[in-house]
Amino acid sequence: MDVKYILRRLVSKFKPLTLHVECAWDDEVWEKIKTKALDGKVVRWYVITPANYEYFKTNFNCQLSLKELHKKLYERYNWLIDNGQRLEPHIHFDLLSSMSYENQREFFESTSSWLKECFPKHNFSELVCGWWKYNKHTLKLCEEFGWKLIKHGEFGDMHDYDLIAKYLNVLYHIL
Ligand SMILES: [Zn+2]
Repeated sequence: MDVKYILRRLVSKFKPLTLHVECAWDDEVWEKIKTKALDGKVVRWYVITPANYEYFKTNFNCQLSLKELHKKLYERYNWLIDNGQRLEPHIHFDLLSSMSYENQREFFESTSSWLKECFPKHNFSELVCGWWKYNKHTLKLCEEFGWKLIKHGEFGDMHDYDLIAKYLNVLYHIL
């Protein structure tokens, strides 16, 4: 972790809060998300979609089938929208450095089409990339899809899994 990264994290503590939503399919995390949403202090929810199914399985040992995951995320994100929350996409690219423009485009396309299909009345206009990692293909695709790329430090941020002790990433949380 470099000094600039730590400084950005410290400064962002004083900015409006955003939540990176990666575990809304987990019932325990979902309870915390609902409470947090009703607090009314989160300005954006950057939500991961079934386009990142492999990421869910690898990183959180998610045992749901793709169909079950779709259903849970659809119902829960819908609840957030119904309760006045602003949702925007969040995508994790595996092996970004070796990904071609076409590979990355598939993630953009499946994320965008899932969101549009599920929430046709909701307008999506921003993107946060997993681990804040992006490259020139990402920038080009953001332009193509009409999404503003949000960079590290623009907002305060935390992960939904930081809301419960089970997944607490202590260092990240303190910073
Ligand atoms: Zn993430």
